[in-house]
Amino acid sequence: MTERTINLYSDTQTRPTEAMRAAMAAAEVGDEQRLLDPTINELQERVAGLLGHDKAVFLPTGTMCNLIAIAVHTTPGESLLLEDLGHVLRSETSGAAAVNGCVIETIHGERGRFTADQLAAAHSPGSRYEPPTSLLCLEQTHNFAGGAVWPLEQYAAVAQRAHDLDMAVHTDGARLMNAVVATGASAPDWGRPVDSIWIDFTKGLGAPIGAVLAGSERFIDDAWLYKHRFGGAMRQAGIAAAGCLYALDHHVDRLADDHSNATTLAEGLRALGCEVVEPDTNIVFFGVDGLGLSSDEFCVKAGAAGVEFVAIGDRCRGVTHLDVDADDVTEALSRLSTIC
Ligand SMILES: *Cc1c(COP(=O)(O)O)cnc(C)c1O
Repeated sequence: MTERTINLYSDTQTRPTEAMRAAMAAAEVGDEQRLLDPTINELQERVAGLLGHDKAVFLPTGTMCNLIAIAVHTTPGESLLLEDLGHVLRSETSGAAAVNGCVIETIHGERGRFTADQLAAAHSPGSRYEPPTSLLCLEQTHNFAGGAVWPLEQYAAVAQRAHDLDMAVHTDGARLMNAVVATGASAPDWGRPVDSIWIDFTKGLGAPIGAVLAGSERFIDDAWLYKHRFGGAMRQAGIAAAGCLYALDHHVDRLADDHSNATTLAEGLRALGCEVVEPDTNIVFFGVDGLGLSSDEFCVKAGAAGVEFVAIGDRCRGVTHLDVDADDVTEALSRLSTIC
């Protein structure tokens, strides 16, 4: 295959653009552990404001944002609730349990979403026998439900019910900006109803490193203890933060292109005989039973034809991003037509 592979494996596959690299190279830096990196400080202030919270902390990965938030919000032996395909449970090697001593309990959702009544039914105040469910983790957009978006009203109602039950609420907002672009509800609209929330810069935003976790002043002060303990306190990391600032300025509005490319991809896959979950944003899950292939077989064949997907269980996933344009999606569908 001499043609370029069209990489729909994930929106983590982007390379920093020349302009982003230039911004990173020019970054002013200092010792971030001592709060002396001006670029990190600027990014933290900007993301705190963006998400409607008092303070924020720069971390190397989204996984560490979740791990730290769970550590701050819970005491070992308590339980946290999340939707049954939640990333915290399915893709973070049980860090919440292994590191933080948390029991993980799930709620069966519809495209990643559930109701306030489902939450109340799953909640336990705790007793001499049963762990208290002290934390709710939401995911917006929901990755394994297919980049699915919670409507603001349902999201706020669930968060409110959790607070009424004395639970803390944390949002895994790895792709929150996709939800902002898809719904028109603002980032603070999603940030304010919850106690902590983060965004990932290495997904649709196209930066190579970094995620920022936001919350109250007290929450972030506590988060710093775990940042240090887990080895996430860095030094002249402003180089990475400059890529994130560049992404905030240049890569948010364009997420709408990823969403329309995902819609095109979904239509094309359906026309080829796949069973497609209609995408809300940039993630397309599809089944390939109708083609007489397993998900693994399909991904191998597609890869040989120059289009990369990933098999997740019995389904395949394609994700659109900064390094894939509308012509690439058309070309990908034409390559796939030779194997379907
Ligand atoms: C990617 C992802 C994470 C983890 O982020 P990393 O930066 O890869 O550690 C957490 N939650 C969701 C929903 C994700 O898609």
